[in-house]
Amino acid sequence: MNNVANVALSEAAQKFLSREHCLFINGGPQSAHSSRRLDVFNPATGEVLTTVPDADAQDVDRAVANARDAFDQRVWSGLRPADRERILLHFADVLEDNAEELAQLETLNQGKSINIARAIEVGASVEYVRYMAGWATKITGETLDVSIPFPPGARYTAFTRKEPVGVVAGIVPWNFPLMIAIWKLIPALAAGCTIVIKPSPETPLTALRLAELAIQAGIPPGVFNVVTGGRECGSALAAHPGVNKISFTGSTPTGKLVGAAAVQNMTRFSLELGGKNPAIMLADVDVDQAVQGALAGGFLNQGQVCAAVSRIYVHRSKYRQIADGLADMANAMTLGPGLDPSAQINPLVSSQHRDRVEQHIAQARHDGLRFLAGGTRVDVAGYYVRPTVIADVPHDAAIIRDEVFGPVLALVPFDDPADALRLANDSPYGLAASLWTNDLRVAMNLVRDIDAGTVWVNSHVPLDPSMPFGGMKQSGMGREFGKHAVEAFTEIKSVCIAH
Ligand code: NAD
Repeated sequence: MNNVANVALSEAAQKFLSREHCLFINGGPQSAHSSRRLDVFNPATGEVLTTVPDADAQDVDRAVANARDAFDQRVWSGLRPADRERILLHFADVLEDNAEELAQLETLNQGKSINIARAIEVGASVEYVRYMAGWATKITGETLDVSIPFPPGARYTAFTRKEPVGVVAGIVPWNFPLMIAIWKLIPALAAGCTIVIKPSPETPLTALRLAELAIQAGIPPGVFNVVTGGRECGSALAAHPGVNKISFTGSTPTGKLVGAAAVQNMTRFSLELGGKNPAIMLADVDVDQAVQGALAGGFLNQGQVCAAVSRIYVHRSKYRQIADGLADMANAMTLGPGLDPSAQINPLVSSQHRDRVEQHIAQARHDGLRFLAGGTRVDVAGYYVRPTVIADVPHDAAIIRDEVFGPVLALVPFDDPADALRLANDSPYGLAASLWTNDLRVAMNLVRDIDAGTVWVNSHVPLDPSMPFGGMKQSGMGREFGKHAVEAFTEIKSVCIAH
């Protein structure tokens, strides 16, 4: 394993790291009421990079109050939609100008490869901002030809307006901290809302930098605020009566707590939650394409991807070839820090998460499962887990049922596609799935019958800003991306005019 970070840290990233970090409220840094601070780690070394405030309920109150003032004063929603669009497009340019700093901060703090940070965390996010900016000018209602019969002879015209829902709370996980913050921020802003973002306590840095860049781009103070903190901060935000909409991404258990808290205030909410995503590889599968696709879909960001493939059902006629191909490639993958662009597997986000993933692997060993790759501990300071491939996994094994959120693939042979479908659907989750076949008839039947918010055919994991994304079953409620993302931050008002 190479343990050398060979991308030099930019001056901008170093400068950001050396600062005393505060909350970001009303357009600038503000000291927290809470005196607690959170250590922010470098997962490649286990060293503390810096600290941030661990905000308490009073800090959350202050951030929400500022977002409320900005909303009520219409400093953002009162702009012409074209002006909101123009400012968001400029924001995309500002992000691009600061791309390397943002990518380096994310790699240092989250652990992911600098290649992924540049291409996805920043690059894809910039495209997402540009796509969503366009929705600011395309939010429309309907005109309705109503039939109200009284008083006799009266005429009515009715129409609907989609108005910004108000103050939004965006609660973000640690796997793609910048990108998922942007997934919430930009459609909320396109709709005319103001927002308080709470990044994960593990990865708070890029959200703080994003808020500064938003001011630079011309987004008015108070429109976008950031509170850093953990569970207390998150639950205070979820239960806050001043919040009109919660957009949450995270685990299913936390999502249920957020939903329950939201309902007490009738706060609108959407939940993007966990997954245990299947791939079904049929008898005509292209073996090389499927092996490459499963590696990319399973080990991207060390498997810390909500839509990552983790259960692979392979037709028995191709099972051996695909299992061998995955094992060979996984065993050959190089481990190293995210700042080494040649490293193929980087550390997981935290020591706690590494321990959780290792417990799943230990359980699979205890269950007597057959390991084709990985499964042994990496004894270095960083939080590494080897890419792991487990074969012939029975349906009642924990590794088939539980979300691991790490680089672990479980392989299962099948003879009849109907059995594969039944096993794939027998999960509490329903986020994403992939089918590997060129048989159009079989593919279209499976597309219809599989329980997943997104189904890929002959690939696994690519997203596009225009393609709705979200989960069925316990993988969540609501959809991000596309027009659904913006509409999720609006409230419909009916207007009925007698004339
Ligand atoms: P998590 O649920 O532990 O935390 C998510 C966020 O919620 C964090 O900011 C956390 O501080 C906050 N939080 C914790 N307790 C809270 C509470 N009681 N009230 C309000 N907020 C609270 O999730 P995580 O470990 O950060 O992320 C991993 C999980 O996220 C995985 O399950 C993964 O599948 C899921 N995820 C889903 C998607 C998706 O789009 N469906 C995307 C990425 C990650």
